[in-house]
Formats: sequence, structure tokens, C-alpha cells
Amino acid sequence: MSFENIRVNGSRLRASLEEMAKIGATPGGGVQRLTLSDEDKRARDLFVQWLREIDTEVTIDQMGNIFGRRSGRDNSLAPVMTGSHIDSQPKGGRFDGILGVMGGLEVLRTLVEHNVQTERPIVLVDWTNEEGSRFAPAMLASGVWAGRLDLEWAYNRRDVNGKRLVDELERIGYKGPAPASQWPVHAYYEYHIEQGPVLEQKGKTIGVPKGIYCLHWYDLDLEGTANQVGPTPMAGRHDALCAAAEMILKVNELPEKMGGGMVATVGEIHNHPNSRNIIPDQVHFTVDIRSWDDDLAIRAWEDVRNDFQAIADRRGCPIRIEETWRVCHTPFDEVLVRRVTETARELGYTVHPMVSGAGHDASYMTMCAPTAMIFAPSIGGRSHVEVERTTWEDCEAGANVLLHSILKSAMEVEHTAVG
Ligand SMILES: [Zn+2]
Repeated sequence: MSFENIRVNGSRLRASLEEMAKIGATPGGGVQRLTLSDEDKRARDLFVQWLREIDTEVTIDQMGNIFGRRSGRDNSLAPVMTGSHIDSQPKGGRFDGILGVMGGLEVLRTLVEHNVQTERPIVLVDWTNEEGSRFAPAMLASGVWAGRLDLEWAYNRRDVNGKRLVDELERIGYKGPAPASQWPVHAYYEYHIEQGPVLEQKGKTIGVPKGIYCLHWYDLDLEGTANQVGPTPMAGRHDALCAAAEMILKVNELPEKMGGGMVATVGEIHNHPNSRNIIPDQVHFTVDIRSWDDDLAIRAWEDVRNDFQAIADRRGCPIRIEETWRVCHTPFDEVLVRRVTETARELGYTVHPMVSGAGHDASYMTMCAPTAMIFAPSIGGRSHVEVERTTWEDCEAGANVLLHSILKSAMEVEHTAVG
């Protein structure tokens, strides 16, 4: 059977994305589909309905992950898997996550339409709570599925209103019976928007990340001395906010100092008592350092930590440091990365090799199966905002790369015994 010339249906993909974008649509043109909210349930229901319409076998696991399985010729072979997430950030965009799920659905619809029978089964997945904005941490359910996070621990994660994840799973009817634990997967492809400006700047259509940056998180608490701002002379103050301000700039300067394509960010700060006429006495802030090079990220941290200590000493504001979370960089499977690159070129698309600065469910999937990702350009590099956009042409291009990458993997039978 020749399948080189088949392509996804771009307008059908667009229609599914537009239909999904109505669920939780925000006035600013984005979507708000927080994990296990009513909107998430409606989007899941529609996704399951669409899966059933093309006769895939639908399974829901204990974490609410939804799997749609299309049979292969030999169902004893490990399936090829693809997918992403339906949940969104608060006031998030219409493409983050859902593009990978609708892109995978479009691949399955195309295979059905062209009567393509693959050797291996193909499984399309919606991972629960990728975003982590309602229940921390991110990538929670793929982490449980991969055996890296504990199910009971995940069940007891709470949102800001104190609601437990497991209760919300039950409430929306997506606490499934299947165990949330991994099975053999032949290859995992995740199709996603880039969420950065590189592809647009380079004028390329398909991004192929070689992996995901390491991620190091730190929490810092500074202690100053509160006092009335008027009568207290400038000399001798212990102003915790000024100490933090100096430290934040050190973090900002760190990537240029260290090199290696590192990024470093202070994204969260709490100032106490946050009053215009009291010298701040307690400041909490976070540091996020990401790099392809784990050791470089550690050296950068040691470097900036020395600066922090010097600033704290000079300003008389003792500092407490917590090394909160470290995830090593995640290289994807070289064979699959090459396959995605070659496939995109064969289809006539321009390709840019890159690295993902953002975490994805693919991070946990690398621990279970050979994994690769396909990136589509983000207009203006914007993501996690309502104006997040990708052109329909680019959405279609990425889905074609997904289709043919999946086909190549799903036609492989090398694990079959040969005489
Ligand atoms: Zn995402």
C-alpha cells in the first residue's frame, strides 16, 4: 500500500480547533479550560465523542487520562502513541496543548478516510493536568503514568479553594477504571506550538527540538527591618526589597555571563508588609534557571548564590535559600528526532533544529519510550496568553509531519521474530 501521498485535511483540523476554542472561550480571544473544570469536562466529552465516531477504543485511566486506540494489523505489537493536553492556563491560548490532541485526531481521521492499515496500533492521548496552574505541579498525570509520581499523592493535590484533584476527577466523571501506569510504547510523538519566537524569526515552518532544557527552581526569603519610612534615615536601613531588587538583576545578568543559551528568571515576588510607608522587612522571590547543560546551570546557581550572600551581608538582610526542584535536561530519541526532521523535509517544509525551553508531557514520556516532538511557529512568540496564535497553514504542516512520522513508526515490525 502506498501512503506517501496522503495528507491531513487542513480545514477539518481548523474546524476541530475552532470547535474546541468555543469551550471556555474568553472575551479576549483565548480559552480558559482549567484542569477538571466544567469546561475541561465539556472538551473531554467532545473529544471522546470524536474518538468514538472513528471507532477508536476509548480508555480512561485512574488519573483521567483519555486514550483512543486504533487497531493495527498486529495488535500484539507495542503501539505508536501521540497526544498532548486539553487543559489550559487561566486566560490561556487556543493552541497550547489542544493542537497536539486535535493534530493527532486529524491523523487518525486521515488514516480512516484513506483506509490505511498500520502494522502497529496507534494511541492518541489527552494527558490530565499538564498545565499545573490549578493543581501543582505541571505534567502531573503523565508523571503518574510514567511511574515517577505517586497516584495517592497526585489525588491529594489541592486547588486554591482546597478542592482535591481526586474529588474533581470524580465530579466530572473522569476517574476511570484503568490503572494509570505505563505499558510498552514503540514511539511517542508530541505535536505542540513552539511557545517562543525562534521559528518565526528564522522563517521556518517546523521546529524539531533535540530535547528539553533542565529546570532548576529556588525559593528565597530575605529578612530586613521594618520601620516608618519618614523618620528613618537612609543610612543604616535594612531594606529587604532593595536587597531583592539587586539580586533580581543579578539573575537577569546571569545567562549572558554564563553563556550556553541559558535563561534565568525571577517571576514571583512577595513583599511584606507591602505598604508605602513601611520599610519592607520580608521578601520572598523565586529563581528559575534553565539550560541544556545541567552542570552549567548548577555553576550559574553557585555563582549567583555568592552574589546573593554578598548583597545580603552588605545590606544586613539575612537570606534563607531553598533549592526547591531540579529536573535534568531531557534529550529526545536521536532516531526519532532524525525521522521527524527527514519527514518534514520530504514533505517540503523548512526545518529548524532547536531545544525546548518549556516542559511538556514528552519529558516524562522519554522515560517510557523513544520520544520526539514537532513544533509549529507561534505568532510573535506569544503563549500562555489569549493572543496566542499559529497560522492554519502551519497547523496543517505540523499535522502532516506528525502523520508521516507516525506512519513510519507504525509500519515498523522489527520486533517480530524473523525466520
Ligand atoms: Zn502545552
